[in-house]
Amino acid sequence: MSLLLQRKGPAAPLPRLEGKEVLVGPNPDAAKVKGVMFGGRKQFLNEVAGEEGFAAIIAKLTPRTASYTKTPLASSWCEFASLIELDRTAYETLKQKYPNVLALIGASSAELGIGRVYKSLDSTELVKFMESQALFHNQFQKFGNVRFDKTPNGGRMLCSDYPVYSPIYCASAVGFYLESILRHGGTDPTVVETKCQALGDAFCAFEMTWR
Ligand SMILES: [Zn+2]
Repeated sequence: MSLLLQRKGPAAPLPRLEGKEVLVGPNPDAAKVKGVMFGGRKQFLNEVAGEEGFAAIIAKLTPRTASYTKTPLASSWCEFASLIELDRTAYETLKQKYPNVLALIGASSAELGIGRVYKSLDSTELVKFMESQALFHNQFQKFGNVRFDKTPNGGRMLCSDYPVYSPIYCASAVGFYLESILRHGGTDPTVVETKCQALGDAFCAFEMTWR
């Protein structure tokens, strides 16, 4: 279970779901994400909705997306549109009980990717992790440019040149970064998306603070 899901007190942020989305883009072959992202979601949905709840979500999906979710192939490339379909369906199904379910989905990805939890803040490791996320983003998505900059109280992730985007995807990214900070021992993390390609900005900017 992710630290974000276990957290008492301030819950993970509610998603900002306004804005435009582009799901296929000019080059459909580039609009792909790694199958491991479906694997993380399968585990998370079983955890919070149970086997029956998971089956109910699967039943609402188109055949391609249902197949990616039921039998995730970690290293295969899957359509971005399917990931958004799954996340939107999970959101619509679970938002009553978990209004911040998109952040929790992102958090579960970070939980799987990082595993260990640091006892106290290791800033060096956290910054290294964020830098590697930016550097190796093309292991998880075939598109875009991602850059991480250190700031006095945290950092900033800049995502640009996305041929496909959705506020749903950005909402799960917020949870991914929050969980990444928490697992590295950060306390009171904040992650705010201050610019977004879905709102017409040239890039998505995730401003993060921790201590
Ligand atoms: Zn965005």
